[in-house]
Amino acid sequence: MLWSLLKILFFVILVAALAYGAGILMETGPGLRVAVADMEFVLGPLQAVILALLTVVGVWLLLRVAGFLVALVRFLNGDETAISRYFSRSRERRGFQALADGMLALASGEARLAMSNAAKAERFLRRPDLTNLLSAQAAEMLGDKGRARDIYKKLLGDDRTRFVGVRGLMKQKLAEGDTETAIKLAEKAFVLKPRHAETQTTLLQLQANAEDWKGARKTLNAKLRHGNIPRDLHRRRDAVLAVCEARDLMVDGDEPRARDLSIEANKLSPDLVPAAVMAARAYHAQGREKQAVRVLRRAWEAQPHPDIAAAFAELVPDETPQDRILRFGQLTDVRPDDPETRMLTAELAIAAEDFPAARKALGDLADTAPTVRALTLMAAIERGLGSDDEVVRGFLAKALGAPRGPQWVCDSCATVQPAWAPVCGHCGGFDTLAWKPAPANQAALAGASDMLPLLVGGGLEKSVE
Ligand SMILES: [Zn+2]
Repeated sequence: MLWSLLKILFFVILVAALAYGAGILMETGPGLRVAVADMEFVLGPLQAVILALLTVVGVWLLLRVAGFLVALVRFLNGDETAISRYFSRSRERRGFQALADGMLALASGEARLAMSNAAKAERFLRRPDLTNLLSAQAAEMLGDKGRARDIYKKLLGDDRTRFVGVRGLMKQKLAEGDTETAIKLAEKAFVLKPRHAETQTTLLQLQANAEDWKGARKTLNAKLRHGNIPRDLHRRRDAVLAVCEARDLMVDGDEPRARDLSIEANKLSPDLVPAAVMAARAYHAQGREKQAVRVLRRAWEAQPHPDIAAAFAELVPDETPQDRILRFGQLTDVRPDDPETRMLTAELAIAAEDFPAARKALGDLADTAPTVRALTLMAAIERGLGSDDEVVRGFLAKALGAPRGPQWVCDSCATVQPAWAPVCGHCGGFDTLAWKPAPANQAALAGASDMLPLLVGGGLEKSVE
C-alpha cells in the first residue's frame, strides 16, 4: 500500500519536474541554465531533452532497485522467501505479458510473433498447459502441421489439456482425409467430454459416413441427453439411422430384426418416405396388411411420393388394372389435388387404357406445372385417345426441355441425388436430402429413362422412337 503510494508520488514529482523543465526551455530559448551548488551549466535544447530522458531511465532504475531493496529488507527481517518472490513475481509478470502479447498476435494473424511470444512465455512461466495451446494455434496458423502435431501430442500428457490435444489431432486427421484415425480420436474425445456438442456432431458425422449406424444412434442419444439437439430433430435423425441399420440387416439376411427396426423407424418419423416404405413391406411380410396401408397413407398425407405409390402397388402385386384403380382409392383420396396424386391417378387410368379418365385426372397439370412426367403422361394420353402424331410429338418435345419436378435435393449443397440416402453423396452432409424441385442449374440432370412414367407399360416407347 505504502509502496504504491510512493510510486505514485515519484511519478507526480517527475511529471512536475518535466513540465517545469519544459517551461524553462521555452523561456530561455536556445540555452538552459542549471545551477548546481556554486556551479552553473548551460545546456542546449537537445542536451536538455537527453537529460530529461536520462532522468526517466534513472527514476525507473531507482524504482527497480528500491523494489529489490524492499525485498532485501524483508528478507533480512526474517521473510526468507521475499527475494525469490520478488524475482518470481517479476518473471511471472513478464511471462503473462508475453502470453498476452502472443494471444493478441494470434488474434491479429501474426503467427510468427505469436510463436516467439509463446516461447518467451514458456521460458518465464513454465506453464506448458497455457503456452502449448498458444504455440499449437500459432503453428496451425503458420501451416506447420508437424510442429502442431508434436505440441498436440504433448498436450495429451496432462489431464487438463488431453481433450484439446485429442481434438487438435482429430482435426488434423480430418483435414488429411484420414477418417479411420479421426473416428478413433473422435471416440476418445467423446469419452473425455461426452457433453461437448462439437465432438458429438463430428463423431456422428464420421459414424454416419462410415455406416456405423449403431454407433451413430448412440452418439445421437448422447446429443439428446445433453440437450444439444431438439427432440423432434432427434426423432427424425434416429429414424434415418434406424432405416439404414434395417437396410444393412436386410442385406445380411436378418429379416425379422430388419422388419422390427423398419417399423421402429416409421414410428419415430412417420413422414420419412424410406422408413414408411420399409415399414409397409415389413407389415406386409408379417401379414398385417391394414398396418401396411395405414403407414403408407400417413406418409402420403405428409408428402406424396412415387416410392410410396410403388410400395402400395407391391402390397397386391398381381391384380388387374381395374382392381388396382379401386384399391389405390385408399391412397389417392388422402391428397386428391396434389400433382403427385393426379399424375398417379392418370398413370393408373392409362394402365387400364381408360384415357379419358387419365386426362380428367391430369387436368391442366401440363400447363400449370409442366414437368417431364406430366408432359410425358399427356403424350401417352393423346396417343391413347388417337390424336395426331404431331400432337403426341409436341408434348414429348416439350417434355425434353421441361423441369423434372421434385427430386431428392441436398439442403446443404443443393445437388440432386439419384436416390434417397442418409448421407449426401456430394457434400457428405447427414440427413440433408429433401424431396423438392431442383434448383434451375441442376435441372439438366434428367436422364432419358426417367421419361417413362412409373406404371405405364409398352405403348409409349414406339412414339418416343
Ligand atoms: Zn450435399
